[in-house]
Amino acid sequence: MKTICPRCESPGVTQMHAGMENGQILWRVWHCKDCAYTWRDSEPAESIDPKVRPAWAQMKGVDIDSLRQVIPPARKPT
Ligand SMILES: [Zn+2]
Repeated sequence: MKTICPRCESPGVTQMHAGMENGQILWRVWHCKDCAYTWRDSEPAESIDPKVRPAWAQMKGVDIDSLRQVIPPARKPT
């Protein structure tokens, strides 16, 4: 099954890390390139299942560039 972002439902996700024990993957950390959400696939469904997450937390179809920035961008190095 293809992994999608739990928040914006984009297929543009990348595996960032895997937790291993005895050669077995126990969990993975994923990152969404479209909305910057990062999650571990062992988190509860309320955090990582788009069908269970609260509607107010979802960003499918949202123009992310139009959202207000809560944290100002860092200055560029000079
Ligand atoms: Zn996303």
